[in-house]
Amino acid sequence: MGTEARLREAICRFGRSLFERGLTAGSSGNISARLEDGSWLATPTNSSLGFLDPAGLSRLDRHGRLLSGGPPTKELPLHAALYETSAAAGAIVHLHSTHSVAVSMLPDVNPADVLPPLTAYYLMRVGRTALVPYYRPGDPAVADAIRGLAGRYSAVLLANHGPVVAGKDLEAAVYATEELEETAKLHLLLRGANPRLLSPAQVRDLAAHFALDPAIAEAHCEKG
Ligand SMILES: [Zn+2]
Repeated sequence: MGTEARLREAICRFGRSLFERGLTAGSSGNISARLEDGSWLATPTNSSLGFLDPAGLSRLDRHGRLLSGGPPTKELPLHAALYETSAAAGAIVHLHSTHSVAVSMLPDVNPADVLPPLTAYYLMRVGRTALVPYYRPGDPAVADAIRGLAGRYSAVLLANHGPVVAGKDLEAAVYATEELEETAKLHLLLRGANPRLLSPAQVRDLAAHFALDPAIAEAHCEKG
């Protein structure tokens, strides 16, 4: 099986897994992945991640013009904006996952660093997450807001909507989105409980050991 065929299968398999675990409901959520020639695959509009067909995925050229398959998700501009600003992004996952959406509505969220350093894997897989204000679905301003982050974040949380997460490949993007959702769940479970976060020394140790983006350690050590 060629690279494109394998990637089509993988998008459908990960989509079904995310859907079946309740990480995005109905026809919400979408996935895209870059191919080696610069074109990309995306889930079609009005499709459920639980019931994707490898042959039915939309294939787009590097400018987002449809090459084959059905029309792509209406949320394609979110993906395009993140690819544009992040050269390392090979795939993007967007979900309406409950706990992440809930965190996006809390009154005391820091838009530059939505979640505190609760676990090592959050720092390693996600790093830090930016909050983008609420926009009406389809409003091109949301893509501009993502562009405004200028590639400094691979994970963006859209207020009252859901996360958009890039990874070097499809597996990395899916795992990072899951880690973000689990960390959001922990954050809500521990709200008001004064949890023991990773200390600045522990955060710096992780950043050094796993060669994380220095901005991740900076973001999480500011308050410490
Ligand atoms: Zn959405």
